[in-house]
Amino acid sequence: MARRKIIAGNWKMNMTPSQALKLVEELKPLVVNDDVDVVYCVPAIDIVPVVEAVKGTNVAVGAENMYVEDSGAFTGEISAPMLVDAGVKYVIIGHSERRDYFNEDDAFLNKKVIKAIEAGLTPILCCGESLEQRELGVTMDWIRLQIKSDLANVSADDVKNIVIAYEPIWAIGTGKTATSDQAEEVCKGIRELIAEMYDQATADAVRIQYGGSMNAGNAAELLAKPNIDGGLIGGASLKADFGKVVNYNK
Ligand code: PEP
Repeated sequence: MARRKIIAGNWKMNMTPSQALKLVEELKPLVVNDDVDVVYCVPAIDIVPVVEAVKGTNVAVGAENMYVEDSGAFTGEISAPMLVDAGVKYVIIGHSERRDYFNEDDAFLNKKVIKAIEAGLTPILCCGESLEQRELGVTMDWIRLQIKSDLANVSADDVKNIVIAYEPIWAIGTGKTATSDQAEEVCKGIRELIAEMYDQATADAVRIQYGGSMNAGNAAELLAKPNIDGGLIGGASLKADFGKVVNYNK
């Protein structure tokens, strides 16, 4: 079954609202590709202007985070219904930076996944091993644990529509990319896990991205692998290079 590729930028804590608008304008002609879904995951303060700026284009907007409650006394947090009302379609959940710096554990991330789906957002659920785990040979054990916990009580129909991003921590923002074979091996392992947890149809439908120093130079090779359905791109999403990643097949 052919899965549509999905190329998402993760802007992280970059781009003031005015810088964001400039970047969207610069990228507009470069990110047109009818064969792929294109997403900009942007800082909360950029969501409203960026949603407005991409109207009428092929770009959807994602959030980088959300809270697990709909409303209330949670100073500083943003809820899934708020994101939906603002025009957001995707939300990154469980990025390694949030797991590490903000102590987000799998039980909490599972609540986020469930809340995002309930609200009508598509989670981009991140998982990935540290360099130490890779060297110890426990990469797949670790990722299986993350995904099993993060998807607890999520139905097969819902899993078919989510996006999973495999992001080896040692490759994020370091310029070190996993080789296409290393990335494919884990993405294949994730698909096998989904088949085990659910069924083959669900595994065939779920889209699995690779993330970790993906750029214009390595995207085509990574995206040619049968189990890599897209990319989650940090650094290279903030420049014209992103257009080349989106058009990896041209
Ligand atoms: C990311 O932050 O999800 C990421 C993959 O970053 P980079 O592309 O900069 O490694």
